[in-house]
Amino acid sequence: MTPEPVTLDALVIGAGPAGVGVALALDAVDGLRYGVLERGAVGQTFLDWPQQLSFLTPSFTGNGFGATDLNAVHPQTSPAFSLGVDYPTGAEYARYLRGVVAHFGVPILANTEVTRVERHPEGFAVESSRGPVLATTLIWAGGEFAEPLAPRVAGAGLASPVGRPAAWEARSGRLVVIGGYESGLDVACHHAEAGVDVSVVDAATPWDAGAGSDPSYRLAPRTRQRLERVRAGGHLTLVAANAAAIKRGGGVWGVSLDAGSRLTSDTPPVLATGYGPGLGPVAHLVDRRADGWPLLDDDDQSTLAPGLFLAGPAVRHGGMKFCFVYKFRQRFAHVAGVIGSGLGLDVSALEAWRDAGMLTDDLSCCGVECAC
Ligand SMILES: Cc1cc2nc3c(=O)[nH]c(=O)nc-3n(C[C@H](O)[C@H](O)[C@H](O)COP(=O)(O)OP(=O)(O)OC[C@H]3O[C@@H](n4cnc5c(N)ncnc54)[C@H](O)[C@@H]3O)c2cc1C
Repeated sequence: MTPEPVTLDALVIGAGPAGVGVALALDAVDGLRYGVLERGAVGQTFLDWPQQLSFLTPSFTGNGFGATDLNAVHPQTSPAFSLGVDYPTGAEYARYLRGVVAHFGVPILANTEVTRVERHPEGFAVESSRGPVLATTLIWAGGEFAEPLAPRVAGAGLASPVGRPAAWEARSGRLVVIGGYESGLDVACHHAEAGVDVSVVDAATPWDAGAGSDPSYRLAPRTRQRLERVRAGGHLTLVAANAAAIKRGGGVWGVSLDAGSRLTSDTPPVLATGYGPGLGPVAHLVDRRADGWPLLDDDDQSTLAPGLFLAGPAVRHGGMKFCFVYKFRQRFAHVAGVIGSGLGLDVSALEAWRDAGMLTDDLSCCGVECAC
């Protein structure tokens, strides 16, 4: 007779910073049965980052004074402390995550891809490459990296997405980068520093100061400084227009702009136009807001399928984007608290997250502007 599968209280899908972080918060709820499934290795996205990419949010060990390292996923950890660097590369950050998982003994089944999720009388029925799992609640932490957003530009398939190594390989002559926020300016500066004549096109001109002090809308200081230095070198042009079409002919790539003019790229243009929510096998269980981002209740739970939570950069509440680690980690202990309380378990240990500045349950308090 085949034994009945165990129903977990919570199943986390994905072992990036969101999955590992939320798992650690679940671990603090005594008696809660949880597990994590990861299709690759712990921190797989960071292992897949092109080697030239590094964090733009700095790491620094301020933990003892309630200023937990911006890139930490648990109050007692700090990438700056364990790695000895302030702007980790992808490989370094994956090493930090592996260290955290090993230290706290997080139960992760690697090389296990979740292929299908359906609602079930007891919660959710999950199909994985290693067989079925039942869970009362589910936390989707599958990340955004697998879903680069292609702009509505004819011929976009001729360009290289910025998250792939091809975008960073050595170029010569002229290069057009489409999208001028952090990733676009990073790859543009990388090539301009090597003497390539780079044009960055973006009608929204994110390189201008912009309103507000939220780093989700304003360039990081390190990017601003680098931009100033690289522009002085004469190989970088910033163009306030959107690309309308990309065409290949005569050994070059022509990029027509909506302003009417045309730029030429001697190698494939680079697309740096952001990422979608990447909901994978839970996409059909999540309703969308008018802007296409997941519609969540105040507990980061799907409005279509209560019990399904979202953790990571796709979390949005009103105009607030939780797209950096230091932002989305504010919700790990909240989600664990909602799940634990729902099961009648003691969630008081999660107060340690609040003490460390890693728990925001009142969403009205995040939109603070700096005075100077
Ligand atoms: C280029 C780039 C630079 C960034 N720089 C910064 C920065 O400097 N600072 C910052 O705070 N944030 C940064 N971010 C934003 C954010 O921190 C990262 O996107 C981060 O990877 C998000 O963490 P995550 O755990 O949600 O997703 P991921 O790290 O992508 O982890 C998701 C995991 O889920 C797994 N997975 C996916 N689908 C399945 C499935 N079906 N079954 C099982 N497992 C699955 C994946 O293999 C992966 O390991 C950056 C993002 C990008 C794209």
